[in-house]
Amino acid sequence: MAGNDDGAHDAPYTIKQQLEWATGILYSISCSAALDSEVLLAFCLQKNRSYLMTWPERELTSDQYEHFHDLIRKRLQPQPVAYLTGSREFYSMELTTTPATLVPRPETEMLVDSVLDLIAGLPAQKILELGTGTGAISLAIKKYAPESEILATDISLPALQVAQSNALKHHLDITFIESDWYQSVQRTKFNIIVSNPPYIAASDPYLSQGDLPAEPLQALSSGETGLEAINVIIQGAKEYLQNEGWILLEHGYDQQQAVTGIFLQYGFRDISTLRDFNDLARVTLARK
Ligand code: GLN
Repeated sequence: MAGNDDGAHDAPYTIKQQLEWATGILYSISCSAALDSEVLLAFCLQKNRSYLMTWPERELTSDQYEHFHDLIRKRLQPQPVAYLTGSREFYSMELTTTPATLVPRPETEMLVDSVLDLIAGLPAQKILELGTGTGAISLAIKKYAPESEILATDISLPALQVAQSNALKHHLDITFIESDWYQSVQRTKFNIIVSNPPYIAASDPYLSQGDLPAEPLQALSSGETGLEAINVIIQGAKEYLQNEGWILLEHGYDQQQAVTGIFLQYGFRDISTLRDFNDLARVTLARK
């Protein structure tokens, strides 16, 4: 049967049967087993997901079958779908995503929305993004605010190469530099600083769950408390922000108080926290 866990090659292998098989075994590691199966099979067949729904009785060739089963084996390790297909959609942009980069999360789109709201109607703004990863945040801002001038940093050269290739792919002009937070950033003043820093506490068992072990640890956690990077970013922001400039940070659902406290400690004002689509505190912004 096509439903065998070992993926034994019995006929026939229709799209519908393969999806049922894959969804059944991915339940053990993924809370989006059906979607994962569809994305991976569509990738294998080089079609979109609606093709799978339109042609459920179509059979896979043996090459397609082998490829799909190989992907499902890797997904079970688990490797994130975005690493297996090499891309992830963020803010309606297809972004190259590799194990050198965090997989962009849908809740991070809130950071982009908030920056775009703040700069709407203003003359060209100078924006600094710290820890850009795939480049997702900077690319989305640049796409919808093309006059803005964006400098994006990352400590990881392989991540910067991915970000650069994404900028090229989407024809967006962003300056990328290798930097440990502000270390290599020239002392210019920015209107906006934005970051989705590593904020998970090193001892949080969440780090060893789901797809997280496959992602770069330095993009997820910066130390014992999870607030280490946030501290460095807020402390340095005073130097790099123009008066009245804004800083916006993504953080953990339980870090609103701590992040607000750090902003107050460094004299920021107009501090507010936004909640994501799961009604969790997710982004805090403040003004110099
Ligand atoms: N939001 C991510 C998660 O919870 C973590 C991303 C980060 O640390 N910046 O999986």
